[in-house]
Amino acid sequence: MNALPGAFPQVQPAPLTDPFGRAITYLRVSVTDRCDFRCVYCMAEDMTFLPKKDVLSLEELDRLCSAFVTRGVRKLRLTGGEPLVRKNVMSLFRSLSRHLVSGALDELTLTTNGSQLARFAGELADAGVRRINVSIDTLDPAKFRAVTRWGDLAKVTEGIAAAQRAGIHVKVNAVALKGVNEGEIDELIRWTHGGGMDLTLIETMPLGDIGADRTDHYLPLSLVRRRLAETWTLEDIPFKTGGPARYVRVAETGGRLGFITPMTHNFCESCNRVRVTCTGTLFMCLGQEDAADLRAPLRASEGDELLHAAIEGAIARKPKGHDFVIDRAHNRPAVSRHMSVTGG
Ligand code: SAM
Ligand code: SF4
Repeated sequence: MNALPGAFPQVQPAPLTDPFGRAITYLRVSVTDRCDFRCVYCMAEDMTFLPKKDVLSLEELDRLCSAFVTRGVRKLRLTGGEPLVRKNVMSLFRSLSRHLVSGALDELTLTTNGSQLARFAGELADAGVRRINVSIDTLDPAKFRAVTRWGDLAKVTEGIAAAQRAGIHVKVNAVALKGVNEGEIDELIRWTHGGGMDLTLIETMPLGDIGADRTDHYLPLSLVRRRLAETWTLEDIPFKTGGPARYVRVAETGGRLGFITPMTHNFCESCNRVRVTCTGTLFMCLGQEDAADLRAPLRASEGDELLHAAIEGAIARKPKGHDFVIDRAHNRPAVSRHMSVTGG
């Protein structure tokens, strides 16, 4: 801006609203496509990762996130890949925390596999992170190793304890997997709720080639919920975190249980979010291929005008919804990119 300070009132860029009237208030940013696990439903074992030059620097990620914050985004989730394996990622958390201090942002959070949490919990809390999602699909250490291929359950639970000591509220995410953890959901409820944590169950989504047949593991949550209702009293509650989960309270534990059901229930009507990959590609819908490149406008100039124009053009194309299908006739992934690319 060249105007003299105070000469003209600063024009605030307009909030982002898509063609269906949905305000975009939630941005998920994948800060790396790399990970120290290889979860069977997420990645193939021999993944090829992006060359460094394609990945946005931490400064570029800050600029990008901040541009969205000036356009009305109130909740920012860093994810990946595994966000905590990105070198110096804490400097990004620290710099983004200025938007919490200014009041422009309500929440700065992350989704993590928890492997590095014991190391970073204190710094995350200092940066204003108050709630995090940690992914654990099973409490059986051998099964955990099998599902994640490389993960160590004890490290993750130590990380959760460290986060709780630092005053961070933990929600556990578990992907419901037929023949893997379907007999363990009751135990997951007891363990999370007993430890003051919420639990959210997620259906597997057909994202990316994982070198295996997903129909083998697909478990509809409608079925899980029916089974749970035989043991537990599930009371519908209007609780919302800004994400897609629908929550019940489990009367016996007093804890919250969320269901994310992209396959059996279309949750698109209230979608308030978009996702950016670590290369600066903006996906307007997790389940659609359409995307906009934000890296070129970001790198083309020091000012953010081109970036804002690209964001506006993209939001104007946000689709009404997705139509995921997993069955034998649709054996290929609905969307070719992996969850670790778009960010969960
Ligand atoms: N590495 C971090 C983690 O595991 O929490 C963050 C990224 S991970 C891609 C985010 C979430 O997506 C995790 O809870 C993971 O279980 C979930 N996820 C990965 N692939 C998925 C798939 N194909 N369908 C459903 N959920 C998936
Ligand atoms: Fe890594 Fe998370 Fe994907 Fe597992 S789900 S491979 S931890 S990115």
